[in-house]
Amino acid sequence: MLNFSRFRRAPLLSAILALVANATRNDVQVLVLGGGVAGVIAARSLHQQGINDFKIIEARDELGGRMHSFTFGAPGNQVVLELGCNWIQGTQEGDGPANPILTLAQKHNLSAVPSDYYGSMTTFDYTGQVDYLDVFNSAIDAYTNLTVLAGARVSNSQVDTTARTGYSLIGAKPKTPQEKAAEYYQFDWEYAQTPEESSLIASSWGNNFTYDTDDGGFSADNLMSIDQRGFKHLIQAEAAEFLTPEQVVLNATVKSIKYSNSGVAVTLVNGTTVTADYVITTFSLGVLQNDDVEFDPPLPDWKVEAVQSMTMATYTKIFLQFPHDFWFDTQFALYADKERGRYPVWQGMDLEGFLPGSGVVFVTVTGDYSERIEALEDSQVQDEVVGVLQAMYPNITIPAPTAFHFPRWFSDPLYRGSYSNWPSSFFVGHHTNLRATVKERLWFTGEAMSEKYFGFLHGAYFEGEATGNSVAQCIKNNGCAGLSHTDQIRNAGPYDL
Ligand SMILES: Cc1cc2nc3c(=O)[nH]c(=O)nc-3n(C[C@H](O)[C@H](O)[C@H](O)COP(=O)(O)OP(=O)(O)OC[C@H]3O[C@@H](n4cnc5c(N)ncnc54)[C@H](O)[C@@H]3O)c2cc1C
Repeated sequence: MLNFSRFRRAPLLSAILALVANATRNDVQVLVLGGGVAGVIAARSLHQQGINDFKIIEARDELGGRMHSFTFGAPGNQVVLELGCNWIQGTQEGDGPANPILTLAQKHNLSAVPSDYYGSMTTFDYTGQVDYLDVFNSAIDAYTNLTVLAGARVSNSQVDTTARTGYSLIGAKPKTPQEKAAEYYQFDWEYAQTPEESSLIASSWGNNFTYDTDDGGFSADNLMSIDQRGFKHLIQAEAAEFLTPEQVVLNATVKSIKYSNSGVAVTLVNGTTVTADYVITTFSLGVLQNDDVEFDPPLPDWKVEAVQSMTMATYTKIFLQFPHDFWFDTQFALYADKERGRYPVWQGMDLEGFLPGSGVVFVTVTGDYSERIEALEDSQVQDEVVGVLQAMYPNITIPAPTAFHFPRWFSDPLYRGSYSNWPSSFFVGHHTNLRATVKERLWFTGEAMSEKYFGFLHGAYFEGEATGNSVAQCIKNNGCAGLSHTDQIRNAGPYDL
């Protein structure tokens, strides 16, 4: 005999199940925390996969994150400059792989000009203009030899070491201020940390995968944005193509993330809580390291170890505007102080093809020196910088700047530094754990999670794209295993890129 009662109860059961489901349904399927390149591109991947039930939550009043432009200069002579990233690093050679940031720049008509890192240089030391281009060129060769050495160690399955050890192994031991400044330009100016603080192998692959076409890199070129809409224009224009106003919550700072096997609840500093099936955090490594966002339950030890083992480096551009241009007419100048890393790399913007008539020159410091100046008053830093210009030009009186500004990336609770750097004590297993999901619901993405391109815009792009696609697959498959981790990292392991 057929059991009709089962069929009769079915509509009721469905109704109850629907009620339960509604009661437990989260506000959205995905929350993307942070609206920088990784966040916007993760959201684009979700959208492209047909998942539109998401929200981007961003603390600032605009999308872009570390693509952060500002207006600088005395009234009547103002220009838009970049506090954060400035270059498309590695472009495209022939029909080889294109840097996706270049592709976005072309699509959205960004104004960017080639920077001549190695061929447009004037050298100075603390006595004035002194030609030590031979020393400068030797440092370029030493850096190339360093990357060759690193490649050989990978082939031999040798352990990593510091880039300083690598320099020693190739016989490069800078001793004079000029040699140290030349090495700084090759190394610290890129990684924002010293060779002592950096992995030999990862710094070399970071270079090769971006710049060396033999290793799958894009090209050796660097394009500097001089777009007066800001470099951020390319990501904001991309976002405008697919995001609806309801999908973006600006001026919303995340305070805490509660997570479990069934979903996440994100609480903002204003007290609002939003729930989701999945969360994609794009916070910088520095934010994760400094507990600026609380996790409930606290992140597991394997994740904490990974987060704390990578380094957040700081790169600081210090901008000055003068009534007239009195400085070098190359794109770059190198200043060798007796103290390594003291106001070493200078760039003039008042150049044909860049921002002529702007009266702007800027100097970059990195690492510990950035942290040092962030603790000083602006006026103290200005005095020091003008003092260095005076040393570079002993025969003129340096006029008072008409404008002066520098950002404090290291102290900023939304960043806690500029970009990540890979130290020699950070192993591939750590990297796996840095990217790994927690309880399959909590996903981590952003520049620091990129094994090949950490530190770069294109690293943020590729990671955002991959994470968005993975989460979309989880949703479509009604769940997924997430990215796995290793409980304990026991050895340095061979690199397996
Ligand atoms: C000074 C400097 C120079 C650089 N130069 C270059 C360069 O020339 N070329 C290059 O390729 N790369 C460069 N970079 C690196 C590049 O900018 C980054 O790799 C990239 O922008 C990182 O993108 P992201 O999406 O991973 O992170 P982010 O851009 O940091 O995005 C994370 C977002 O999270 C938000 N956020 C943080 N905390 C919270 C919170 N509690 N609640 C809500 N939102 C929050 C932040 O506001 C931010 O918008 C530079 C970076 C800096 C700072």
